[in-house]
Amino acid sequence: MKGLICGAAVLVLLAACTPQPEQAALSVAQPADLAAQSQEFPRSIEVVAPGVWAAIGYGLANSLLIEGSDGLIVIDTMATLAEGRAVAAEFRKLSEKPLKAIIYTHNHADHVFGAQAFVDALSQAGVPVQVLAHDSTAEYVYRVASAYRPILSARSFRMFGTALDDAGFINNGLGPRLAIDADSEFGFIAPNQTFAEGLTTTIAGVELELVHAPGETADQIFVWLPQTRTLAVGDNLYKAFPNLYTIRGTPYRSPKAWAASIDKMRALPVEHIAPSHTRPLHGAERVQTVLTNYRDAIRYVHDQTVRWTNAGLTPDEIVERVTLPPHLASEPYLQPFYGTPRWSVRSVFAGNLGWFDGNPAQLDPLPPAEEAARIVQLAGGVEALKQQLDTALSAGEEQWALQLSDWLLRVEPEDAAVRQQRVTALTRLGERATNPNARHYYLMSALELRDGRRLKPVSAGTPEMLRSIPMESIMTALATNLRAEDSLQMNRKVVIRFPDIEQAWTLWVRRGVLETIPAAHDDPEIDVTVDSVVWKQMLSRQISPAVTIAKDMQFTQGGAVSFSRFMLLFRPVREAPEPAPFAAQGL
Ligand SMILES: [Zn+2]
Repeated sequence: MKGLICGAAVLVLLAACTPQPEQAALSVAQPADLAAQSQEFPRSIEVVAPGVWAAIGYGLANSLLIEGSDGLIVIDTMATLAEGRAVAAEFRKLSEKPLKAIIYTHNHADHVFGAQAFVDALSQAGVPVQVLAHDSTAEYVYRVASAYRPILSARSFRMFGTALDDAGFINNGLGPRLAIDADSEFGFIAPNQTFAEGLTTTIAGVELELVHAPGETADQIFVWLPQTRTLAVGDNLYKAFPNLYTIRGTPYRSPKAWAASIDKMRALPVEHIAPSHTRPLHGAERVQTVLTNYRDAIRYVHDQTVRWTNAGLTPDEIVERVTLPPHLASEPYLQPFYGTPRWSVRSVFAGNLGWFDGNPAQLDPLPPAEEAARIVQLAGGVEALKQQLDTALSAGEEQWALQLSDWLLRVEPEDAAVRQQRVTALTRLGERATNPNARHYYLMSALELRDGRRLKPVSAGTPEMLRSIPMESIMTALATNLRAEDSLQMNRKVVIRFPDIEQAWTLWVRRGVLETIPAAHDDPEIDVTVDSVVWKQMLSRQISPAVTIAKDMQFTQGGAVSFSRFMLLFRPVREAPEPAPFAAQGL
């Protein structure tokens, strides 16, 4: 999941709101090639090698079981407790031995949040369970409270097609639906044995080599089992072009690091690859070919993008020049069912040079509304531009129609005919897309526009989950919720004490900026004591701020009324981030 997900970390705090997973009808065709990709994850338990199994199709990601002489090891733990329970029950049928270790390949939600279900179902009293991961994995999991959660949640749900019904949804390219929704229960267990570069160990008689391998995530590892020549590659290899950039939004994923991690795998005498998405791969020769093609595709896109970047081309121009050569474009493991070379080109450019494409016209362009007004004028008025939109749609030029509708809706956002034509363009683009992320983003955007949907929030994490999130993450996110325009003349200090975790924090609002200090200031205007979990529940809107402030807070300085007024400075801008070009309107 990729954050919210893979990357699909979809827990939402601080009034983040996300689409509900209720499904809506949208009549669409299903591209045959994407439909065929479903054969890569039929619900099944597959034998990878002697004593190694993969649970495939029980969720977006796989879970792996390794049976040792006197115990079991599980690699990756599904996205929810429900998924974890279903897989653990299948694993129990394969072996009665007790669970001895869990290994997380990386922090994404679909790999870590079902862990407790495996412990509940497979562990034995008196047999401790090691939980192994890279030493940064827990920190990434706790970033579920990060400042970007509202927009990442909304974009993740679009990318994963959460609200599409079975007529619109085919698969996620790497697996079936992402099952995280408002009712999901999570059971992440923090790692108790971590490492930086690598760890060689033996558990239940199984020799294990855990190697840091940054790629799809910075904390990614692979697990090498020399006795069976099996390699668990996490998300650094699956049967689809690698997601060098994910459209839900991500910091830069270094293709050079990813390719280097695959080079480490190529150096091993691998017979079996057990990926955390899609089916296992067998045979030393084929394994070497796939690994080599995979790293070559990554380096090809990276290196050629840098080459054309140095020639002064803009990302829009480079995208048209960098296409995979035939021997890579035809490789079954490089089909664009998850990542795409085109999105990767843009990511390499932005990741190395930042947002400025080098064209001086883009240094400080006209505001979108002003540009739109001038384009409309240039076209001969709104009616003339609408005629162009009609013509584009009739000619099957959906991308051009979409761009025309951008300008028209900037000028007349409520024009029903243009909105309908935009829905048509989005729907057709979605129908045609074989990349599921693109398909879902188009189709979800069409639904949101057609139905005028205001997406409802999913609930935040359980109290246990909230308790585990460091207060520092919560406070950091608060700063980016400050209504600067309402506090430009303000200089106020508020102390919040959390006796249950023996912490006190000062919130100092100073002329449009919140400084958070992990200590109590001497002379605050308001001094309030509250349970740390109640505080997190209030910020995540699981419980009403008004009721919480009145009932669950004790004031030694100031009072409920002034504190309520203070907290209004952090109320959310809007309940659900909308897709462009509507997001900027009506704030
Ligand atoms: Zn994943």
